Amino acid sequence: MAVYHADALVIRSREFGESDRVLTLFSREMGKLQAVAKGVRKPKSRQRAGAQLFTYADYLIHRGKSIDTVSQCSPRESFPHLWYDLDRSFAATGIAELLDISTIPAQPNKELFGLTLTCLFLLEQFDPALVLSAYALRSMTLLGYRPLLGECAECGVNIAGERLFFSSEAGGTLCGQCQESYSGRWLRAGSVAFMRQLIKADITKIDRLRWNAWMQQEILETLRLFVEHRFERPLKSWRMGSLSADV
Ligand SMILES: [Zn+2]
Repeated sequence: MAVYHADALVIRSREFGESDRVLTLFSREMGKLQAVAKGVRKPKSRQRAGAQLFTYADYLIHRGKSIDTVSQCSPRESFPHLWYDLDRSFAATGIAELLDISTIPAQPNKELFGLTLTCLFLLEQFDPALVLSAYALRSMTLLGYRPLLGECAECGVNIAGERLFFSSEAGGTLCGQCQESYSGRWLRAGSVAFMRQLIKADITKIDRLRWNAWMQQEILETLRLFVEHRFERPLKSWRMGSLSADV
C-alpha cells in the first residue's frame, strides 16, 4: 500500500528544512503517526491549513522508506476558537502534549481519538482548565492508568477525612497505614471528589460542575505530576500554563 488515508488530528507540528513541517498526527484508525508536509511554509501552499496544530482533516499520505509524506489534505475543522484566546490555546496545547507523551506510534485507540476531538470542540464554550482536567483523567482511564481516588491504591480500603494523601508513585490516594512508604502530597477531600466526578459525568455536561480556584490549582498540579511520573516526561505546556486560577 503506497498511499493511505488518515482521519486525523495534528497534535504536533514542527518546522523542518526550508519550507516543510513534520506533523505528528493522531488518527482514528492507526493511532499516532508522523508525516512530512512539504512546502507548507511557503505563503501560497494549498496544504498550509492542514499543517497547523489542532487541525482535524482527512490526509492522503504517501508511504516512504524513511518517512511518510502528506500528498493531499482536506481539512474538516480548524478550531478557530483555539487561536484567539490564550487560556483555550494553552489547554488545547496541554491536551495535544499529553496525548503525544502518553501514546506510542501505530497503536490505534478510537475512544481516545473521540475523546480528544470532543474536548477540542468543548474548548469553544467550556472553562479550559475544566476541559483539560477532565481530558487528563479520562485519557489516563482509557489508557489503563486511572488514578485511584478515595480508595487506597495499595490495600483497597475506602479513605475518609478532610484531606487525603495522593501519591503519583502509588497510583492514587493512600490510607494512613500505606502512605508511610510513599512520597506524595495532601489533597482536600473536595478535590478528590471533584476528580471522580470529572471521570464519571457526561463529558458534554461537565460545565455544570462547580469548582473554585484552589481546587482548580490543586487538581491541575496533581494531574501534571501524576502524568509526568507515569511517562517520565515533562509536560512543558502544563508547566508554562497560564491557566490562571481565577474562576
Ligand atoms: Zn492502604
